Amino acid sequence: MAEKCSRCRKASVVNLPYVNQSLCGDCFVKFFERRVKRTIRKNELLGPKDKIAVALSGGKDSMTVLTILQSLSYKAPASELFAIIIDEGVPGYRDELIKRGAKYCEELGVDYHIFSFKKELGMTIMDMAKKAEKRGVDMLPCSYCGVFRRQLLNQKARELGATKIATGHNLDDECETAMMNLFKGDVCSIARAGATVGVVKNKLFVPRIKPLRDTPEDEVLLYTKLKKIPAIKGTCPYSRDSFRTAVSKVIVELEKKYPGMHYQILASLDELIPILKEHYSKSKWEARVCGCGEVSSQETCKFCQMKTALGLD
Ligand code: SF4
Repeated sequence: MAEKCSRCRKASVVNLPYVNQSLCGDCFVKFFERRVKRTIRKNELLGPKDKIAVALSGGKDSMTVLTILQSLSYKAPASELFAIIIDEGVPGYRDELIKRGAKYCEELGVDYHIFSFKKELGMTIMDMAKKAEKRGVDMLPCSYCGVFRRQLLNQKARELGATKIATGHNLDDECETAMMNLFKGDVCSIARAGATVGVVKNKLFVPRIKPLRDTPEDEVLLYTKLKKIPAIKGTCPYSRDSFRTAVSKVIVELEKKYPGMHYQILASLDELIPILKEHYSKSKWEARVCGCGEVSSQETCKFCQMKTALGLD
């Protein structure tokens, strides 16, 4: 016999061992949305006059962020919401995600803007990967793709007047990234984590917010199914982040054995981040402006370094 919902006694659809509850679809949706709103409130992610750019990929996480922020925009009519979609140029992967994302924006009545690597950088990620191979550049496509995407997002959001960029990073992403940085000895990058990204404020840098930071990835998937959000899972042929996969497997195994492990990592992070931010903002992290006009921690920003390595400048 199906387990009953711990709250209303209907048939449950999910068991959440870390809170010792089983929930039916309706109670889960309420539980899920309340938690995201709590993340937003607790971290003051939204102000009444904010203009939010959702970094929309068409996948489950960013489509969920868009759904929830759009529902909240009725309560803060002075705030604005739009989406930015970056097209890296991976046929058979990004095309369908972009189509879904754009269509969903239209259904919700949210404006969206698509910017492509091809138009902005002169080449798709596929062309870049070929060029990198020819030039003997020893980097995985994700290394430069991520840098280009982040920079384009920041630049376009700023040009469009956004005060914040909302990304779809969930609890699993946050824990994986923190543990990866810890294993790599990159403590400064841990300082940049948190519900709002960054160590120091700079007017060239549009703050990035993560409304799903307290939300487990598998629950985002269930939410999209229950709410019939038309997100799809695509796998980029260049995706080979084996280190992330390895770290993720360890945390998932620990979560199975010790429910609540992700939240324990997050709680430790939340203790550490303010201390690290304070330390790095005073000592090691200095905001500079690169020759291209973008903010950077080094004299030449990573975007320009990658462009030079690939011969794009
Ligand atoms: Fe870019 Fe890597 Fe994502 Fe593919 S998997 S879109 S190469 S960051």
